[in-house]
Amino acid sequence: MLGYQHILLATDFSAHDQYVAQRAKALQAVYQAKLSLVHVADNLPISTGMLDGQVMPFDVDLGEELMRLAQERLAKLGAELEVAETDQWLVIGSPKLEIVSLAAANAVDLIVVGSHGRHGLALLLGSTANGVLHHAECDVLAVRLKDN
Ligand code: AMP
Repeated sequence: MLGYQHILLATDFSAHDQYVAQRAKALQAVYQAKLSLVHVADNLPISTGMLDGQVMPFDVDLGEELMRLAQERLAKLGAELEVAETDQWLVIGSPKLEIVSLAAANAVDLIVVGSHGRHGLALLLGSTANGVLHHAECDVLAVRLKDN
């Protein structure tokens, strides 16, 4: 059987999300596959580190609040797409690495991401879609997003 059995939708909660999500949902229906969701919290605005020689304190409350908001948005999208709570993943780390390793650990055979079709310097610097595409062990669908 050449169909997909487990599709993983990677979401960054951007304005384009619904479009990418609908693609993943449509494929799930075609293949009667399981659908999982992942959001990776990667960029807490205040973290321990040096800025102009100053050590910035890590703001625990803000970090917790951002995680709570992310959890809420993930649950909302999960409900819209009828994804079981146990298949909604909120993880901390590098988006491309976490998406790829979650997929490998859960027998995902298709990852769905949005792609802004960057070129030039932005492409050299890399994007999440590029990173996933190059590191994933399974198929990756990069849904082209229109930047405007
Ligand atoms: P980017 O290239 O980083 O703009 O993101 C392209 C796509 O990668 C998005 O449309 C999402 O599908 C996925 N993505 C980006 N950031 C994240 C994240 N933090 N968590 C999960 N998926 C993400």
